[in-house]
Amino acid sequence: MQDVKSMTLAELTAAVQEAGLPKFRAKQIYEWLVKGVNSFDEMTNLPKDLRATLSQHFTLSTAVIRRKLVSQLDGTVKYLFGLADGHCVEGVVMHYHHGHTLCLSTQVGCRMGCSFCATGMQGLTRNLTAGEMLSQITTAQNDLDLRINHVVLMGMGEPLDNYDQTLRFLELVTAEDHLNISARHISLSTCGVVDKIDLLAKAGFPLTLSISLHAPNDQLRDTLMPINRKWKVDTLLNACKEYVDQTGRRISFEYILIDGVNDTPACANQLAAKLKGMLCHVNLIPANPVPGKTHAGACRKAALAFQKQLCDRGINATIRRTLGSDINASCGQLKNTSEQE
Ligand code: SAH
Ligand code: SF4
Repeated sequence: MQDVKSMTLAELTAAVQEAGLPKFRAKQIYEWLVKGVNSFDEMTNLPKDLRATLSQHFTLSTAVIRRKLVSQLDGTVKYLFGLADGHCVEGVVMHYHHGHTLCLSTQVGCRMGCSFCATGMQGLTRNLTAGEMLSQITTAQNDLDLRINHVVLMGMGEPLDNYDQTLRFLELVTAEDHLNISARHISLSTCGVVDKIDLLAKAGFPLTLSISLHAPNDQLRDTLMPINRKWKVDTLLNACKEYVDQTGRRISFEYILIDGVNDTPACANQLAAKLKGMLCHVNLIPANPVPGKTHAGACRKAALAFQKQLCDRGINATIRRTLGSDINASCGQLKNTSEQE
């Protein structure tokens, strides 16, 4: 059975007609889906027997709140969303002066196995549907009674390892008759799935591409991120240059600073040399400790020194402000602790 929440209005219209129902019902159903209903029964302007027919023909993906933590420091909200098959993913709402941002998940787990990542420890269970990604937004909006106007695909999972559903999500979330979130307000973060970066460049969404780089050379990146064994640093950076050329969009490089591992002056020098001349920005993020992993985040002093070295060489770099530090707002950890409980 097909998931109605992952369909465009045109697809839904065709599917509704195929199920022997009148065409005008599609628009009514679609409007309920955009509101974020969790069942056909909530579509109260449809006759009861029609709702029953729909549930025989279609599925409707959901993301309901299983747990919710609110930061006492800055109001950041962390959700554990339950999916229809019982699996869970995480999402985080952050409040900024420019509005409300949701960091959402694209997969249950992740198969990329980065050494510092709580999600990577779980392996991949399954891809999310576009409808499940959208549901994370509508559930958060309805719960908090606000409009999410920025989205970052930086929760659990590797969006480009779930390329088709991620693209479908982008198409729906930016559609004027759907959530209508501007692509310019969307960031997609990837560990560097090079063939899909090439495809994304051609897909024509003016979103911000974030690359989780975390190391300036192959020797180090090989040990932190297994994907580097397939696509080397230079191959990845060439794909990034191509992306900038094709889209005109600045790339954002994520660089988590791990104490004594990749936060040395030598690493900062190498990174500056590699990124020289590229339209980019570097986000420095002190690594979060993860239970079961031994790495430690770089101290403030090392982070400032690293940033200064980059800026002195003309590379735009900022240290990311941490939000929700009292609720462990970075992804992958709430699910792990909930499963242990
Ligand atoms: N799979 C994608 C998006 C999800 S991870 C990616 O890797 O880019 C989102 C971000 O969180 C990535 O930049 C990732 O490297 C970072 N991250 C993972 N574990 C972390 C940790 N322990 N501390 C800080 N950042 C972490
Ligand atoms: Fe997957 Fe991203 Fe975590 Fe790496 S950092 S394991 S790609 S979620």
